[in-house]
Amino acid sequence: MNLEKINADTILHGLMSPEKIRKISKTEVTSSRISTDQGCLLDINIKEDNCFGSLELSRPLIHPDFSNVIYHLLKFTCRKCARVLLPQKLVDSLSEKNQKILKTFSKLRTSPSIKKCPHCGAEQKEIQFKEPYAFTENGNSLNPIDIRRRLEMIPLSDAKLFGVPEDTKPEWMIMTVLPIPPVTVRPKPEDPLNEKLSELVSVNLFLRKSWEEGIPVPVIEGLWKALQQHVNEAWNLLPSKQLLNNF
Ligand SMILES: [Zn+2]
Repeated sequence: MNLEKINADTILHGLMSPEKIRKISKTEVTSSRISTDQGCLLDINIKEDNCFGSLELSRPLIHPDFSNVIYHLLKFTCRKCARVLLPQKLVDSLSEKNQKILKTFSKLRTSPSIKKCPHCGAEQKEIQFKEPYAFTENGNSLNPIDIRRRLEMIPLSDAKLFGVPEDTKPEWMIMTVLPIPPVTVRPKPEDPLNEKLSELVSVNLFLRKSWEEGIPVPVIEGLWKALQQHVNEAWNLLPSKQLLNNF
């Protein structure tokens, strides 16, 4: 992929590997301050326009744009062998025509859960999704690490059936590094997006420190959820796709 041609919308709303996000990033954000220090939110764009920064997340998070796709991937792939929960014959016929794939999956989306894997015979459990980012399996919570482990196992040829593009991997829907939008998108320090980003950087730093200090798990889980909430709120404050690409 030519880095010059990647636009702001693709970086924030597309599926990109953590390595690529780091490559695009001009600065790693290490401080929640909105201005002054190196590595703070407003330093990203000092010399050039449209420069992205990056934030290394202390715990992985669900990409706010892909929670629905994640739900369908978890619901319709085997919890043991990670294959799509469709008979191989049907998979073979679907691979030939995209149109058919879309039809089948719009049917699957409203169909009840499939109880048994047609590939390995494993019994399946009920996956539930409570918007915007809570996933459970038979009532037990699945955190982003559990989810990423499952997504990593899905063969790319099966992920394709859910609309995941060929050159991307389903596990990229769980973010380990966050792209920080350019200052051109949030020019004033008092911009709500700046304030939200600053809050999320603070929570991220606090969560890392708490994790390293061995703070009890329920506290870590609370901070982890708070961080996810901040990221979702920041994504809601991003400009529309069209505006984003004009910056
Ligand atoms: Zn299976």
